[in-house]
Amino acid sequence: MNTNETIKIRRLLSSSKNIVIVTHKNPDGDAIGSSLALYHYLISFGHDVTVITPNDYPLFLKWMPGEHTILKYDSNTKIALTKIEKADLIFTLDFNHFSRSGDMEHVLAKAEAAFVMIDHHQQPDTYAEITYSAPNMSSTCQMIYHFIEKLNDLDKITPEIATCIYVGVMTDTGSFRYRSTTSITHRVIADLIDKGADNTEIHENIYDTNTLSKIQLKGIALNNLKVLPEYKTAFITISQKELDQHNFKKGDTEGFVNFGLSIKGIKFAAIFIENKGEGIIKISLRSKGSFSVNEFSRNHFEGGGHHNAAGGRSNLSLSNTVEKFISILPTYKKVLNQ
Ligand code: 5GP
Ligand code: MN
Repeated sequence: MNTNETIKIRRLLSSSKNIVIVTHKNPDGDAIGSSLALYHYLISFGHDVTVITPNDYPLFLKWMPGEHTILKYDSNTKIALTKIEKADLIFTLDFNHFSRSGDMEHVLAKAEAAFVMIDHHQQPDTYAEITYSAPNMSSTCQMIYHFIEKLNDLDKITPEIATCIYVGVMTDTGSFRYRSTTSITHRVIADLIDKGADNTEIHENIYDTNTLSKIQLKGIALNNLKVLPEYKTAFITISQKELDQHNFKKGDTEGFVNFGLSIKGIKFAAIFIENKGEGIIKISLRSKGSFSVNEFSRNHFEGGGHHNAAGGRSNLSLSNTVEKFISILPTYKKVLNQ
C-alpha cells in the first residue's frame, strides 16, 4: 500500500461507514484471523462492520474473539445479501479473485460498494479500488498488522486484535517455519505478545483439538501415503467412505498434506480428498524449493495459491484424478530432480 492509498483509506474511513469483510470459501486461520482483527479495529471507530464467510469453517477456529458475529453466506444468505447491498466498503481478505468466494462470486461482482483487497496470493485481479497485495508476506494477518501500522494506529491493537493476528501468522507459516517467515514476522509476533496475545493458549486452542476419530483418520491418511521416488513426490488419497467412517468434520484433514513433504528427499506432496457432496476431488499441493505448485495447479487442476502451497480441484473420480496426476509428473521430472 503506497502513501496515496494510505491517504485514500484514511479518507474512506474518516466518517462512519457500513463495512463488509469477506473471506475466501473454506476459510482458514489466516482468513478468519485477518477478518476478525480488521473487524475489531474498524468497530472501534464506530463503523458498522460485518464479517461474511461463504461457508462454514473448522471447529478449531470457533473460539476466536468476535467469531460468534460471523455470518455464513450459505446459511444466512438473506441477511448477508442485505449487508452487502447496504455496504459502502467491502474488504476482501486472503483472496484476490472473486471466483475464490464460491457462491458469493456473482454477488460480489454485482456489488456497488468500493472494494479494498488485502491479500498475499500471487496474480491479484483488478476489482479493487485499493489493492494491497504482497505475495511475499507470510500471511494476510501480518498484512493487517502493517495496514494498522501504516495508519499510525499500532497503539489501538487490543489483546483481541493481537490474538486474531497471531492466529493467522502462526497457521499460515506452519508455526513460523516456512520461508515466508522473516525477522519482521518475528518482530510483529513479539509485539503482538506484548499487546496481549497469549501464545501458549493460542497454540493449544488451534492444535490440541484432536478427537479419537480425527487421530484415526490421520492413521488412514498415513496408511494411504504413496511415494514416487523418481519424481521426489509423495501423495495421499482419502475417499468419502473413509471420511464417513471417521466422523469427518471440516478441518479434520488440515495439515495432512505435509506428512508427504516431511519424508527426507521429497520435494512435492499432494493430497486428494473426495467430496461426494460437491462432486469434486479437493486437492492440496505443497513443495520445497523451486518447483511451483501455484503454476502446477493453475495449469492442471483449476487452482492456484502460492509458490510452495496451493490448492485445486478435479471433477474426475478419485482414481482417475490420481491417474491424471501421475501422468503429468514426467513433464516435471527435471525440475523435481534439480
Ligand atoms: P490449502 O491446500 O491449505 O487448501 O491451500 C493452500 C493455498 O492455496 C492457500 O493459500 C489457498 O488460499 C490456496 N488455494 C487452495 N485452494 C485453491 C483453489 O481452488 N484455487 C486457488 N486459486 N487457490 C487455492
Ligand atoms: Mn493466507
